[in-house]
Amino acid sequence: MTETTESLDLSKLQDELDAINAQITKQGSTVRQLKKDGASVDVIDEAVKALQALKINAAGLAEKLLGSEPEFDRKAFDDLLIRKMFVVPSFEIHGGVKGLFDLGPPACGLKAAMIDLWRKHFVLAENMLEMECTCLTPEVVLKTSGHVDRFTDLMVRDTQTGECFRADKLLEDAIDDLLEKNPTMPLETREEHLRVQRQADAYSPEELDKLLLQYDCKAPSGEPYSSSFPFNLMFRTSIGPEGTAVGYLRPETAQGLFVNFRRLLDMNAQKMPFAAAQIGLGFRNEIAPRSGLLRVREFCMGEIEHFVDPNDKSHPNFPSVADKELVLFGRDDQLGSGKTKTIKIGEAVKAGLVNNETLGYFMARTQLYMEKIGMDPARLRFRQHLATEMAHYAADCWDLEIKSSYGWVECVGHADRACYDLDVHAKATKTPMVATMKYDTPKEMDVAKLKFDRKAMGMVYKKDARMVSSALEALAEDWKDFEPIATALEAEGKATVDGYEVTKDMVTWEKTTKKVHEVKFTPSVIEPSFGMGRILYSLLEHSFYQRDMDEQRNVMRFNARVAPQKCAVLPISSSTECNSVVDEIASSLMDIDMATRVDKSSAALGRRYARADEIGVPFAVTVDFDTLRDDSVTIRERDSMIQVRLPKKEVPNVIYDIVHGRLTWDDVTKKYPVVQVDEGEGASTQAASAPPGAKTVVEATSRGRFSRPAPAK
Ligand code: AMP
Repeated sequence: MTETTESLDLSKLQDELDAINAQITKQGSTVRQLKKDGASVDVIDEAVKALQALKINAAGLAEKLLGSEPEFDRKAFDDLLIRKMFVVPSFEIHGGVKGLFDLGPPACGLKAAMIDLWRKHFVLAENMLEMECTCLTPEVVLKTSGHVDRFTDLMVRDTQTGECFRADKLLEDAIDDLLEKNPTMPLETREEHLRVQRQADAYSPEELDKLLLQYDCKAPSGEPYSSSFPFNLMFRTSIGPEGTAVGYLRPETAQGLFVNFRRLLDMNAQKMPFAAAQIGLGFRNEIAPRSGLLRVREFCMGEIEHFVDPNDKSHPNFPSVADKELVLFGRDDQLGSGKTKTIKIGEAVKAGLVNNETLGYFMARTQLYMEKIGMDPARLRFRQHLATEMAHYAADCWDLEIKSSYGWVECVGHADRACYDLDVHAKATKTPMVATMKYDTPKEMDVAKLKFDRKAMGMVYKKDARMVSSALEALAEDWKDFEPIATALEAEGKATVDGYEVTKDMVTWEKTTKKVHEVKFTPSVIEPSFGMGRILYSLLEHSFYQRDMDEQRNVMRFNARVAPQKCAVLPISSSTECNSVVDEIASSLMDIDMATRVDKSSAALGRRYARADEIGVPFAVTVDFDTLRDDSVTIRERDSMIQVRLPKKEVPNVIYDIVHGRLTWDDVTKKYPVVQVDEGEGASTQAASAPPGAKTVVEATSRGRFSRPAPAK
C-alpha cells in the first residue's frame, strides 16, 4: 500500500468511527427518553441492545484504527535529525541546556524557505506592513499588556527534591497512562477522561490540585506534589548599566506592532482595515521543556495583527477561500461527541461556528500555507478554544493543531482579540489608538450630549478625571452605546465605565441627533500567531519515511519548493573530465539560486543517492560516461527514483521550473526518455518503472551505468 492510499484508508476508517459515535450519542438519548417516558421493559431492552451493538462496533473500529496507524520509527527519525545535523542541542559540549536547540544547515535552509513562503503567502499577497521590533522590552509595556501579572503557567514541586513540573501536563500524562493501561474501558468513561484532559490547561489551581489527587499523581520521590501555583514564563533582565530599569525578553512579537499602531495607520494612509506582520524570536521560560522542538525556551514566531472595524469584520477576499474545506473541532464537539467536522469555511462562518469572515479567512489561508509547504492535510485540524480557555475580551479563538508522534499540538493560534490590546496601551499612555472612517454621505445619528460636573468628578478621580470623561464622551457618540449607562445611572445612581465607577452627580445628558461625517473607533485585532519552530518540527515528521531496499533507507520528502537543497550533482567516476562537468552544472544551478549539493566522494552512486535522500534533496543529476560523449546527463527524482536523460544544458531550467511550480516531474517524464536503473552498491533489483505516458524507456543496466536509449515500448 502506498503512503497516500494508507492515509486515505485511515481517514475512511476514522469517518466510519465518527459516524458510529454520532449514532451512539443519538441512541443514548433515545434510551434516556424511553426511560423518562416510562416505556415498556421490552422496548427499553431493545433500545439498550441496539446501543450496546453500536458500542461494540465502535470499539472494534477504534482498535483497528489504533492498530493501523502507520508506525513512526522515532529512533530512526531522531538519529537522522542529529546525524544529518538538522538539530543540535545548544551548548552540547558543555552539557546542553533543556529547551534550547541550534538548527544545523538542512534545517536552516528549510526554515528560510518556509519563512520566504510565509512572507509571499501572507505579507506580499495582502500588502501587510512588516516590522522588526526589538526583543528587549521595557517592563511598562508588558505590565500594560497583562504579561507581567498573568503570563503564567501553574507549577507544582516535588516536595522532597524541589524539582518543578507543569501541573496541567502532569494531569494530561496521568490520563494518557490510565487510558493506555485500560484499553477495554467503556467508551463513555474513556470520553469523560479525554474531556478532562482537553481542559487541562483551563483549570484553576484548586481544581488542578483536586484532579492531581484524584488521578493519583505522585512526584518522582513518591511524595504528593505541592499545591499548584502560578509561575511567570518571562525572562527578566535589566536594561542599562545602572540595573534599575527592568526589562524582559519578549514572550511574543505582537506588542511591538500594537505600540506602533498609530504610525502603521499613517503609513497605510489612515485606511482600514489593514494588517501588520512580524517574524522574530519569542522567549518563554517553560517550566518543563520537552517533546523535542515543540516546547522550547527560544523560538521563532510569525505574527499578524489584522486591524478591523469591530462592527464590520467582513473580509474582501473571503469569497476566494469560502469553499475551502477545513477540519474543525468546535467547542461543543470537544465537550460532546469528541469528533471533528469537515466543513467549508464559508458554511462555518454562515452557521456562526466561526465568529466572523476575517477570522475564517485567516484560518483558510493558514491551511493553504500548510499545504503549500508540504504538511500532510490529513494531520491538520482547527480546535476552538473552550470558553474557559479564552480571555474574557476575546470573541473567538481557533488553534491550528498538527498531529505528530507527540499527538495533536497547537502550532498556529487564530484569535479575535477584540479591542483589548489597543485599548490597554491607549489607556496606559493616554495616547488615542483610534481609526477614523469617513461616511460617503453624512449620517444623522442619535447621540448623547453630556455635561460634566468637573468638581464632583475631580474629587473622586483627581488626575484621572479626564480619562473618565473621555471614556463617557466616546460612548456618547452613539446613543446605542450610551443608553445602558444612562439606564444604570437613572436606576441605580451609578454605572461602570472602563472600570471607573461614575455616579449621577458627575454627569447629566440629553438625547439628541447630530449630523456625523465620520466615526472614530478602536479597531479590533484578529491575530494569527505562527510558531515557526513547531511547524518546522511537524514538517520534518510529516516528511520522514523509510524505504525498504536491501536495508531501511531514510527519506525526507520535502517538496521542491521548500527543500533546503534543490539538486545534487554527482560524477559517476572521479575522472577530471567528469568532475569538471559536475562543477559546470553545479555553478549553472547556483547562478539561478538553486542550492546545489555536489558529492564527488568515492562511495557508490546508490549510496550517494541515499545520502541526498536523507536530507530531502528532490533531484540528483548524474554525470556519466555518456555525458562525456554527447553532453547528456540523467536526473533522478527522489521519491519515485525514476530517472530521465536530457541534455545537460537543459538541467538548470528544468530544476528551476519545477521549484517554481511551472513544471511537474510528470511533465518531465513525458518530455524526456526515462531510464531504468539499479541504484548501485547493495541496492535491490527494484528498478524504477516508467509512469504512464513516459516518452521512452531505456534498458536498465547495473551499477548505475546507462546504455544508449532503446526504442520506446
Ligand atoms: P501563543 O501566543 O501562546 O498562542 O503562542 C503562539 C504560538 O507559538 C503557538 O501556536 C505555538 O506554535 C508557539 N509556541 C508557544 N510556546 C512555544 C514553545 N514553548 N516552544 C515552541 N513554540 C511555542
